[in-house]
Amino acid sequence: MEQIYHHKDIQGNYLPFPAGKVVCIGQNYADHIAELNSVTRPEALFFIKPNSALCSVEPSFEIPKQVGPCHNELELAVLISKPLKKVTANKVQDAIWGYGLALDLTLRTVQSKLKQQGRPWELAKGFDGACPISPFINKSEITSPQNSDLVLTVNQQIRQNGNSKDMIRPINELIAQMSQHFTLMPGDVVLTGTPAGVGPLKNSDQLTLTISSGEKTWQFASVVR
Ligand code: ZN
Repeated sequence: MEQIYHHKDIQGNYLPFPAGKVVCIGQNYADHIAELNSVTRPEALFFIKPNSALCSVEPSFEIPKQVGPCHNELELAVLISKPLKKVTANKVQDAIWGYGLALDLTLRTVQSKLKQQGRPWELAKGFDGACPISPFINKSEITSPQNSDLVLTVNQQIRQNGNSKDMIRPINELIAQMSQHFTLMPGDVVLTGTPAGVGPLKNSDQLTLTISSGEKTWQFASVVR
């Protein structure tokens, strides 16, 4: 039986917010758009994972089998603590509790088929467990969220190595834009897009997810099953 997911801080304490929806942006780093042979478009591509997609990335998480490749997308995750509805970017910081790292798991072949057919992406990105996530670090500890190194290693090899300064839409602006369409509630999570380096995960892969901000580094370890 899977444990029910709750948001936690890095000391392991439960946070007083329900696990809400996960609002994501499809393409927010130029190097990832290039690796997908896609093009930068003026309108943002937003999508939502349901709260049933959330699971703890530690100590391990499960990937779907027999549905083609399941790709890692390492993303800076933002935990929302106050309602945000149609706000401007200068209102966003006050509604952020903190930051973590998430994997926007993507069934790439399923997604390609859905794209070809003009269908929505839920089967590729919204399945149970499609958003393994770390505990959250309070924003008081992350001195420069918009200049943080984000690194994913798979079996000790660096697979993704990005920096949040390379986001096309920076965090506050991105969240303000999302709030024009979707009211963000306490406990909702925003995923800010993946840098380059997506690729298939397989059973028993050993992952480390690392975020460095200022002088501080946090690392989370996981195993794929
Ligand atoms: Zn993503």
